[in-house]
Amino acid sequence: MTRAYNFCAGPAMLPESVLQQARDEMLDWRGTGMSVMEMSHRSDEYVAIANAAEQDFRDLAGVSDEYAVLFMQGGASSQFATVPLNLLGEKSSADYVNTGIWSTKAIAEARRYAKVNVVASSESSGFLEVPDPSVWRCDPDAAYLHYTPNETIGGLEYDFVPETGDVPLVADMSSTILSRPIDVSKFGVIYAGAQKNIGPSGLVVVAVHKSLLGRARKEIPTMMDYKVTADNGSMYNTPSTYSWYLAGLVFQWLKAQGGVEAIGQVNARKAEKLYGFIDASDFYANPITPRFRSRMNVPFTLADDALNNAFLKGAEARKLLNLKGHRSVGGMRASIYNAMPEAGVDALIDYMTTFEKERA
Ligand SMILES: *Cc1c(COP(=O)(O)O)cnc(C)c1O
Repeated sequence: MTRAYNFCAGPAMLPESVLQQARDEMLDWRGTGMSVMEMSHRSDEYVAIANAAEQDFRDLAGVSDEYAVLFMQGGASSQFATVPLNLLGEKSSADYVNTGIWSTKAIAEARRYAKVNVVASSESSGFLEVPDPSVWRCDPDAAYLHYTPNETIGGLEYDFVPETGDVPLVADMSSTILSRPIDVSKFGVIYAGAQKNIGPSGLVVVAVHKSLLGRARKEIPTMMDYKVTADNGSMYNTPSTYSWYLAGLVFQWLKAQGGVEAIGQVNARKAEKLYGFIDASDFYANPITPRFRSRMNVPFTLADDALNNAFLKGAEARKLLNLKGHRSVGGMRASIYNAMPEAGVDALIDYMTTFEKERA
């Protein structure tokens, strides 16, 4: 068996030791005679697994008791509706910042339920930067402000946390969660689809400030109600038990790496290496304003698009997988989440060097 370096944007690579542990525990979890997949979610064993995962997430991300941590389903996209349905309360409008494809999708879904005020957008310049907060037209009476700290497709990342005063700040952290330290106290709601830095797809981890619970619209589907979910320990119905368990293994792995502070340094180094290489080359290019370049998703183009297929074929032969850029952007994209070892980035740069020498 040879494990590849998988640069997929999501579902993404998982740490090898996590997969090995899951394999070892697959048929008989610690002498119970069954797989975690087969356990009652109400059993003592499973509740212990679930609670440990929640605690480890709280420890890693620095989430205090003032927040509920929820393990929900439907991926990050379901939160695009869940957020307005929970947070609008008596209000009718919400502020959104548009910095790319994921914020555009969040805006489109919110418009089904709310009057959406797009406070700023970098669409006209091709989403190459984050609009400066000095030009945001925020509504002090908005129910919340939603933004996307890391735009997974464009490879654009905020290097600051917006200041919104009393307006709750909501962040889609799907592709940046646990990749670096954050100050959770600045946020009303953080949500993240699991398949980038947490575990299997379908699961979405939500941290919501407890003061925001209980504002949901009457007609909200019960399964989407943050308060119902919190009151039931994310077990109003059968949760995605195996994904939750696997997320717990990833959290333990991350703790063993030294937590978000330590992995944040590795991530910074990985990104600096790759962008540094791209900038030093006349053959490869990345268009994003350097200040806002994503640490997790690195899109790049070749000097000639006609070479794209040859590049991808050669990469695959070296077990460097899923480098094709998103269909809307083209070119290449290397996603280098927590589980991508530094050696994977080195192998990619090595290949890019060889390819350039042969083709340029
Ligand atoms: C991947 C991603 C999503 C969509 O996640 P799903 O779980 O597929 O719904 C939403 N937002 C961002 C920023 C993402 O990276």
